Amino acid sequence: MVTGGSRGIGKEVMTKLAQAGADVCFIDLISDLAGQVEEEVKTHGGQCVFYKGNVADLDQCVKIADEILERFSKIDILVNNAGITRDALFMRMSRENWDDVININLGGIFNMCKAVIRPMVKAKYGRIINLSSIVGYTGNPGQVNYSSAKAGLIGFTKSLAKEVASRNITCNAIAPGFIKSDMTDKLDETQKNAMLANVPMKRMGTLEDVANGVLFLASPLADYITGTTLHINGGMF
Ligand code: NDP
Repeated sequence: MVTGGSRGIGKEVMTKLAQAGADVCFIDLISDLAGQVEEEVKTHGGQCVFYKGNVADLDQCVKIADEILERFSKIDILVNNAGITRDALFMRMSRENWDDVININLGGIFNMCKAVIRPMVKAKYGRIINLSSIVGYTGNPGQVNYSSAKAGLIGFTKSLAKEVASRNITCNAIAPGFIKSDMTDKLDETQKNAMLANVPMKRMGTLEDVANGVLFLASPLADYITGTTLHINGGMF
């Protein structure tokens, strides 16, 4: 189950998981691309089902998880990937831009985990992977809201990991650096060059670089890894 799967990192994650043999479900706000994505992901073998919903809404998350459980009988892997930015310097940041980013990027993780944790505990199996960001560790001007959410989910990940470890459920985070995606395409050339100057590997990360990390944490190779963060940033931090 992947949130925010119809584009960017989420779509690449679904492709990797499908190639590895998983049936995939995804939740997104807007359904424009969903049908096309379902068909693309299905070409790798398993099923792919879209559910329209808002991760910031607990009732919707619970309803969708229940529908998925009815159809597939279990949810083995939850990838909390959905995220937004509403950048502004703090002096100009509205309360609304704070609330939106916290409610989706951090509240969405609470809601989705709430929706799947009982069935995972019952099944004595679960792999939860939360998408953080380098800025949750380093901070970034213009992103007080976003970096707070991304730092907050690190505490969430570590605590939930400890609560459910005895049930064979792992909970980890991934903190990508500067990744080529819709989110970073919004930056102008000057901003991109300034960011690249801080990347020792001298290139932006790819969607695949991040999805490979998710696949690793979801796989048996990572069975004894929980409560940690995998940094995927070309040496930036
Ligand atoms: P995109 O903006 O390309 O995609 C975000 C996805 O999340 C979209 O599919 C969007 O759906 C979905 N989404 C947004 N809000 C909601 C909501 N309320 N409910 C359900 N779905 C929602 O993001 P990226 O692929 O670039 O990033 C994915 C994750 O990785 C994010 O959490 C981001 O913060 C993190 N990250 C990204 C980095 C980067 O450089 N790209 C760097 C570090 C972290 P819709 O199409 O319907 O709007």
